[in-house]
Amino acid sequence: MHYSRMLLPTLKETPAEAELISHKLMLRAGMIRKLAAGIYSYLPIGYRVIRKIENIIRQEMNSAGAQELLLPVLNPAELWRESGRWELYGAELMRLKDRHGRDFCLGPTHEEVITDLVRREVRSYRDLPLNLYQIQTKLRDEIRPRFGIMRAREFIMKDAYSFDCNDHDAQISYQQMYEAYNRIFERCGLTFRVVEADSGSIGGSFSHEFMILADSGEERIAYCPNADYSANVERALAVLPDSLNSGEAPSVLAPLEAVDTPNIKTVDELCAFLSCAPENLVKTLILKADDQIILALVRGDHELNLIKLKNLLSADQLELADADTVMQITNAPVGFAGPVGMNKYRIIADNAVKNMINFITGANKTDTHYINVNWGRDAVCEYADIRVAQAGDLCPKCAAALNFCKGIEVGHIFKLGAKYSKALGAVFLDEAGRQQTIIMGCYGIGVGRTMAAAIEQNYDQNGIIWPVAIAPYHVLIMPLDVDNEQVMQLAEDICQQLESLKIECLLDDRDIRPGIKFKDADLIGIPLRLTIGKRDLKKGLAEIKIRKSGKSDKISPDNVVSYIKNALTLL
Ligand SMILES: [Zn+2]
Repeated sequence: MHYSRMLLPTLKETPAEAELISHKLMLRAGMIRKLAAGIYSYLPIGYRVIRKIENIIRQEMNSAGAQELLLPVLNPAELWRESGRWELYGAELMRLKDRHGRDFCLGPTHEEVITDLVRREVRSYRDLPLNLYQIQTKLRDEIRPRFGIMRAREFIMKDAYSFDCNDHDAQISYQQMYEAYNRIFERCGLTFRVVEADSGSIGGSFSHEFMILADSGEERIAYCPNADYSANVERALAVLPDSLNSGEAPSVLAPLEAVDTPNIKTVDELCAFLSCAPENLVKTLILKADDQIILALVRGDHELNLIKLKNLLSADQLELADADTVMQITNAPVGFAGPVGMNKYRIIADNAVKNMINFITGANKTDTHYINVNWGRDAVCEYADIRVAQAGDLCPKCAAALNFCKGIEVGHIFKLGAKYSKALGAVFLDEAGRQQTIIMGCYGIGVGRTMAAAIEQNYDQNGIIWPVAIAPYHVLIMPLDVDNEQVMQLAEDICQQLESLKIECLLDDRDIRPGIKFKDADLIGIPLRLTIGKRDLKKGLAEIKIRKSGKSDKISPDNVVSYIKNALTLL
């Protein structure tokens, strides 16, 4: 392809709208343009990357036995009412009416549509298992679309759905997708980690997320250095060393005492005021779980994990109580809540609080705390793991200290069980002729997000550094003297030879200053750059530079093709 013929509008300046590196670089490298908030056009060079990721996904899905199909974007409301999600999905569901006033939505995901298809077509156990997938545009009315295509309102996704006769077979389907996803992200050339995850609004019992590791990632990951455990921090088990958990505290229970703590609002202020460590404090949070009031207790240096607590309570809604409610329940403003005298409410304490003695809590009275609080004597509660895992916590499998890193979620696989098949009546007849409910799984990959995450993981101050497998082109051929016939002839010849070997080339034939060409080359991030200039050519040389390492070699033009062929296999 000739650069001069392409729509490839690179920008020198970073557009003010972009915060994230990938967003900035995709705009600057002429890969995407914004149409409206969270809605983007993919320009030719950006769309090449999308197509490459899609093709890797397609190949791996097909070889795992899945079949590609295409479902409608426009979904009738009746189906979503059947599953209950017309109401549950909330404002993120893009809704519209047709000319007859019938309700529709633009699909944010396709469990309803695929389950409807399968319930109509599948009759017998002989028709199962099935794994059906599509690569398609999805729409979600994000409250705050941001980070370019990372969190957009319209985005490209691969979604797959498996249908099995029973749990055992569904587990096999899940495992096949787990392995296919590993191969997909490996083939994309990305560093990633698979983590145990929460199932969120999709529902179901069990899920894994595929995270591209990047410092800018929004997700926090806890993982064991021995590689036997890794989980989203939302879900990671919080396990303290025994020595800390049992405490070295004295075995004598000191008498409960109320102390004045005027205007003390935070844990730090309280620690300074009472000369104690946060580990001696217990924070009490007042929450509303659906319509029930819950007191949740965590150690002063720990953080409550709302997702764990919500799962524990099987609540639909869980939120911190507002200031008025806190006042009503504790007779004090926010900051002075505690478990003493609160037994009419359900009190849940984190496991790390269980063995504490002589600790400090709020006294449910303005400007007052209790010291020397002890379980059993002063308050009772139930215990569970309800906090966020943090540095110092141990691997629940092998007790090594957990490590933490950040990632970008690009894939998510779920065991759905019978959630949708039951709601929509997707059944089959088993071998004995009995009617059974189909067991489902669902499996998503954000295609555009994978592209953005690849950039977040692979860039430097000059621009993008594409992994070969998803690079828009493999080689950028750069003739420096476009008016020199010999230079241009060689550039065209090598381009043709490489393309006959299925090595994709972009030939920068623009008649502009070499400095600008070099800058654009680094920005766009094509793995190999071949520079042909008349001065080098007189000496019988051309230069090949590797974008990733910055390493360059001058070699004879005769050897360029074999050099490039070899270099691409090594990158
Ligand atoms: Zn471990």
